[in-house]
Amino acid sequence: MRAVPYAVPRSIGNMTGAATPTTRRVLVAKPRGYCAGVDRAVLAVEQALERYGAPIYVRKQIVHNTHVVQTLEKRGAIFVEETAEVPEGSIVVFSAHGVSPAVHEEAAKRSLRTIDATCPLVTKVHKEAQRFAKDDYDILLIGHEGHEEVEGTAGEAPERIQLVDGLDGVRNVQVRDPSRVVWLSQTTLSVDETIETVDRLRERFPDMVNPPSDDICYATQNRQVAVKEIAREADLVIVVGSDNSSNSKRLVEVALDAGAAASYLVDNAGFIREEWLEGVSTVGVTSGASVPEELVEGVLAYLAERGYGDVTEVEAMAEKVHFALPHELRRDLRS
Ligand code: SF4
Repeated sequence: MRAVPYAVPRSIGNMTGAATPTTRRVLVAKPRGYCAGVDRAVLAVEQALERYGAPIYVRKQIVHNTHVVQTLEKRGAIFVEETAEVPEGSIVVFSAHGVSPAVHEEAAKRSLRTIDATCPLVTKVHKEAQRFAKDDYDILLIGHEGHEEVEGTAGEAPERIQLVDGLDGVRNVQVRDPSRVVWLSQTTLSVDETIETVDRLRERFPDMVNPPSDDICYATQNRQVAVKEIAREADLVIVVGSDNSSNSKRLVEVALDAGAAASYLVDNAGFIREEWLEGVSTVGVTSGASVPEELVEGVLAYLAERGYGDVTEVEAMAEKVHFALPHELRRDLRS
């Protein structure tokens, strides 16, 4: 772990001059915010708008963040829930959460030009599902019911995949042959909770096979490790992220489990309530994998205005992952 004084952007320094650094401070977790998959998906829509012009249709929210979606809408992106809403022959971008093969088929039938911004780490889980289904395993997919990523992965082999939503879901699982069972997971779960669910599943199915590699992605894991570092010392942890962002919501839970007295999810600084700061000397701040840094800066500005101008960034680990743009887009950008 590395703790360094955080250079608060000039526009958001301590505006009251009332900071009492020894009693009011902020710990900012690192890594936080954009992961490589989100960066790639947002850039894909931006580049598509630039290359082909507006409108560019996007199936579902490109990433689960209200600010990002609204910003792209202003630039000409049109967000739809289903492929059927996209006019024939138009360009549609599939979100970072991935889609099922049925969605690809429907897009082809409607002669849509698709740009698939599915995160490569979600695609990896899809491939695992395909492979284990082909080998006739029952696949227990640990994840949250109704989440787009889970719907996309389950769509790879609907007849072989069962969703296990938390510990309660374990008892409902029925398999054909207990010796041919594998578990996979959504990429954005709580690591600790997933381990618990797997343990519970293994009590029922001792021969259950593990995924070939971690399905919970590096970004989710790293942000959870980082928030634990600051939560231990924080009276309050503010997580910047939208309500439909799975990995952001998990950060609140992880912060509380790690010892934070209180933790809240906020879309931006406008959602912070003054009373949360009453009697608080150390505030932890982090953000989910779909959150642009400017929203974190807004929170730091809000805190600085209230005397929390002593800001330290606590780095749990370095992160250097980068994904290339979707190949359909790269090809057109080259030509
Ligand atoms: S959170 Fe993980 S799986 Fe989701 S887009 Fe980011 S890197 Fe990919």
